[in-house]
Amino acid sequence: MYTNKEKARPRPAKAASGSGLVQTHSHLKYPHQLNFYDQPPVEDITLEEFETCALSRLRVLGEIESSFARNRSWDELVQITNKQCENHGLKLNASTAISQDLDGERRRDHVGHFVLRLAFCRSEELRRRFVKAEMTLFRVRYESMTDIDEKNQFLQSLELGWEAVTEKELAEYHEHLVAAATSKEVLELTKQKKERYYKVRWTRVPDLIEKRRVFLNAGMAWVPHREIASIIYQEFQTRLDKALQMTAKALPRLDEDTRIIPILDNLSQGFLAGVSSEWGNASSSGNGSEVTADMVDDIARKHYPACMRNLHDCLRRDRHLKHFGRLQYGLFLKACVLGLSIEEALLFWRKSFSNMQDDKFNKEYRYNIRHSYGLEGKRANYAAKSCQQILLSDQPGSSDNHGCPYRHFAPENLQSALLSMYSSQGLTSGDLPEIMHTVKNGHYHVACTRVFEITHSKQVSKGEGIGGGESVTHPNQYVTKSREMEARMQVKDEDVVMG
Ligand code: SF4
Repeated sequence: MYTNKEKARPRPAKAASGSGLVQTHSHLKYPHQLNFYDQPPVEDITLEEFETCALSRLRVLGEIESSFARNRSWDELVQITNKQCENHGLKLNASTAISQDLDGERRRDHVGHFVLRLAFCRSEELRRRFVKAEMTLFRVRYESMTDIDEKNQFLQSLELGWEAVTEKELAEYHEHLVAAATSKEVLELTKQKKERYYKVRWTRVPDLIEKRRVFLNAGMAWVPHREIASIIYQEFQTRLDKALQMTAKALPRLDEDTRIIPILDNLSQGFLAGVSSEWGNASSSGNGSEVTADMVDDIARKHYPACMRNLHDCLRRDRHLKHFGRLQYGLFLKACVLGLSIEEALLFWRKSFSNMQDDKFNKEYRYNIRHSYGLEGKRANYAAKSCQQILLSDQPGSSDNHGCPYRHFAPENLQSALLSMYSSQGLTSGDLPEIMHTVKNGHYHVACTRVFEITHSKQVSKGEGIGGGESVTHPNQYVTKSREMEARMQVKDEDVVMG
């Protein structure tokens, strides 16, 4: 995929103009904390790395999209994005952080970005959303950079053709600069001769010229330092836009690669569904857990997301579930925190199908349940379905109960189902307009996350999601977080009683 090692090596750092203090980091393969992703990674990449780097990045971008859908303030978005970067190994440290594996973390960031380019270049819609999310991630990182010298060094490396305005020129055109300054801050600094200016070809800043926010001289716009950031973001967006279109043209050459295409399909589908990721802990065999068949009703009532609550309630009502419903619910029960062992699972399903004779159950259902635990057939350990899979695959018909209620229920049915499932946990009809607005815009997992916040309002506030600002991406993650929060509350209550 990448062959020309010399050509693609990131450019070495250059000292920023006007600063004698800039330290170069020439020992690093990636000399800058930030990256404009002008060159693809060139070394061999394992398939596993290809996928994991992309998934980590997708989680961060997915959370950025959720933040837009939830109208989070910029400060909240910055805080959540930085936290997500930390959680998913995408935090980029300053070059002065000598104890960190700087090249390692920058390489992961670099690889993840380029894999997602391959996944998201394939349609106008994907490109638009990807550029917006990537630009936001870049902006968050740029704003969070505290080392000014390193920032200058990075800007210099971009070779944008800027030139710092000299002291002499500043003095000569002082009056013009004061007249052109639009913001109060720039005006004050310019009056005090403390603002730095850069000369940029006027064609690069049409928006600033249109708004008359810069001084023009001999075809060059004199841009105050405080306006520089918006030009960088614009440049990042323009370059990424162009690069994605070029990648889209080149992509058909990859179409016959049976290893890579399914990974790319999976990544882009997840983004389209508005759900960023798989949840890492959902493929456990479930053995060794203390959950028994008798406990399931109680856990369902207190901790289930709407998809599983619906399946559970239908199972209790009809004493039966159709194939895809059994599959979705059975794998959910098997995985992770619920961790129903195979014996308990057989007991649970046997009791649930109470209208059925033993003989029929043993012949028609026992095998399938054992199969889903990897004890029959090809003995695969099937993972529980993620939101992405539930939202996109095996679309339910009118007599099916599987799927995601936020996506697959009619609006009136969804509202009455939510009230009947969650009013005992604090959800009221006053909460529905906000939830339905999110559903209408296709952000199903955001609606699910909001319901989690409302039903766990003692533990999380609005905007905190299932903790730390994270959104729901997997039913098992929902139930795990819910149970963890309950356990923490119980410990607190006991402490109060003891204290
Ligand atoms: Fe289930 Fe995910 Fe839909 Fe929530 S968003 S109801 S967890 S499929």
